[in-house]
Amino acid sequence: MTKRTIALFSFILILTNSEAQISLDYYLPENINYNPAIPTPQSVIGHEVGEWHVSHDKLVQYLYALADASDRVEIEEYARSHENRPLLTLKISSPENIQNLANIRTEHLKLSDYNQSKALDLSKMPLVAYLGYSIHGNEASGSNAALLVAYYLAAAQGDEIEKWLENMVILLDPSYNPDGLNRFASWVNSKKGMNVVSDPNNIEQNEPWPGSRTNHYWFDLNRDWLPIQHPESKGRIRQYHKWKPNVLTDHHEMGTNGTYFFQPGIPSRNNPLVPSKTYELTQKIADYHANALDEIGTLYYSKESFDDFYMGKRLQLSGFEWCGRHSLRTSKCQRTCSAEC
Ligand SMILES: [Zn+2]
Repeated sequence: MTKRTIALFSFILILTNSEAQISLDYYLPENINYNPAIPTPQSVIGHEVGEWHVSHDKLVQYLYALADASDRVEIEEYARSHENRPLLTLKISSPENIQNLANIRTEHLKLSDYNQSKALDLSKMPLVAYLGYSIHGNEASGSNAALLVAYYLAAAQGDEIEKWLENMVILLDPSYNPDGLNRFASWVNSKKGMNVVSDPNNIEQNEPWPGSRTNHYWFDLNRDWLPIQHPESKGRIRQYHKWKPNVLTDHHEMGTNGTYFFQPGIPSRNNPLVPSKTYELTQKIADYHANALDEIGTLYYSKESFDDFYMGKRLQLSGFEWCGRHSLRTSKCQRTCSAEC
């Protein structure tokens, strides 16, 4: 996995005026060929990623189109939100692994069984990574990025991507909070003007209370990982235990002036019940992404805020520095968004 490739997960819009053309090439790694049989996001949703906030129904439409077109992709609806929107898992791996998913899952679960795990040959077992986006509906850059990640994983060609897919089963969950995401997309898309406005007092950047951070009942789903009171969480936790992934990501979004936060959080606030190894491994993931951001000169930080104490809150956080509460076209807006994750 090259740093340049990883950078696609943390893209930044640099368009400075409304006339600039957004291009898919901007987001994707260089020197990669893409399978022309795989539909691009624009060919399905009718606009380039970043031109408008993606509505949840368009997001779903695209992921089903990918699953139809690609033998690397299988799609599963695992729950419905309060407003009856589907919650999806896009399973992405090599075509051979996709044909063998049930067996891979059965073997993988043995890792969590002390009596069986010692006998496993880890070199032959794909890693399982659960990638999840935008549990806070108004931190929408995650779900918009998910379009690009899914396209890349389904369409990119070459030895590197094929090796990834042979060695990984990716469970891509494009929207942890469909009702919040859709509420936010509707608000921003209906308020943005013909020209980009960076004034933080602009109506586009000031969604009225209670906003779309929460789900239908204004519940913060990032506090529901442990209580599990809502259908979105119930389905997700069921899916989590069905697979017991090696890595789970939870992509949030930072404010304009918040740079880019990685877990781990403040060390003095670690939960003593969490093994120290977990923090060490989290640090390794952070280092990897930090190197990628060094390549493109983007600021970031960790261990200076947030914490891992409350287990009902996930913060494998990847901030996206593209003014996500505002028009996706405006990266230069000056509003100081507080990082509320
Ligand atoms: Zn958040």
